[in-house]
Amino acid sequence: MSDKEKIIDSSSSEDTSIPTKINMDSESSKDSSTFEIESHGIDEKKFCQFKKIFVRTSHMFLVLFVTGNLFVQNTKLRDALILRDYTYLFCFVGLTYTSLLFFFLTCLKNPGYVEKNQAEGSKNLHKEGLPNIKLRFCTYCQLEQPIRSRHCEECRRCVNKFDHHCPWLETCIGEKNHKFFWLFVGTTNILICWCIEITWSSFMSYSKWSTWLLKNLLFLFNAQILVISFSITFALFIIHTYFMVTNTTTWERFSRKNITYLKIFKNDSYNPFHQSYLKNIYLFLFSPRDNKWENVYAKFFKTKVNIPSSGSSNVNSENEVQIKIERTKF
Ligand SMILES: [Zn+2]
Ligand SMILES: [Zn+2]
Repeated sequence: MSDKEKIIDSSSSEDTSIPTKINMDSESSKDSSTFEIESHGIDEKKFCQFKKIFVRTSHMFLVLFVTGNLFVQNTKLRDALILRDYTYLFCFVGLTYTSLLFFFLTCLKNPGYVEKNQAEGSKNLHKEGLPNIKLRFCTYCQLEQPIRSRHCEECRRCVNKFDHHCPWLETCIGEKNHKFFWLFVGTTNILICWCIEITWSSFMSYSKWSTWLLKNLLFLFNAQILVISFSITFALFIIHTYFMVTNTTTWERFSRKNITYLKIFKNDSYNPFHQSYLKNIYLFLFSPRDNKWENVYAKFFKTKVNIPSSGSSNVNSENEVQIKIERTKF
């Protein structure tokens, strides 16, 4: 980036997460190209906001449509309402509310955007404790990316412990909101199972198939949505539980060959961030402030690979690290 351009990147809140480029030369006398750039930025920002509102409202509408349908049709849920079975009703409504709560917490929580001062800290740690592995420099955010972080094209920010950008929630899943995503998927899974059970028990039997189809049309429509949703959320829940227990991410799992700090391991089963299953779960759920992945990574080298942590004096290249790891038995 030239000196003429400057990136304005004011805060980590969602509303201002999209940096806007301006031409400093034309600040005093704005020409048409400047206005073009600015208006393009505003349009893009508006479009991003629209996408967020659209997907989140659609999700809420879908949940309320399916559950509301079970309340108005002849189902166990309506029976509970008529018979004033408050325990049953409280559990069902409570679960629906919890699922929506975790959905919005995932959407609205900062996923863990990398801040400039944090990147500086990682840079120092990198020099002190890690082997000579080049970390990426994000030209957009103008910072050296801490280990496990990645720039998200959609959010236009670097995200700590980047997992993926979720189009259903229209947000990044990173270090700070991964647990809410996992809880959202888990509670939604239970809710869907419950809805499937209610729907299944509500089908009415008729001797004539056309009457059966007509009378059960709404249940069939519900069942279709529920089965598709269940197959997606169940797979996601299993995958992300595995990621939580083993301390890995979607990005690290599927792009291992392109990640500088992982591709040096020839054996794909090496995970430098795995500590113990219990500690992995603790770090996932509580993400303590003092946790630095650079330290965990350096410790892995120190204890498992037997490479001196200070100054990387004996490690001058990625190839050398690779040779030493290959000779080390875990
Ligand atoms: Zn970035
Ligand atoms: Zn993103």
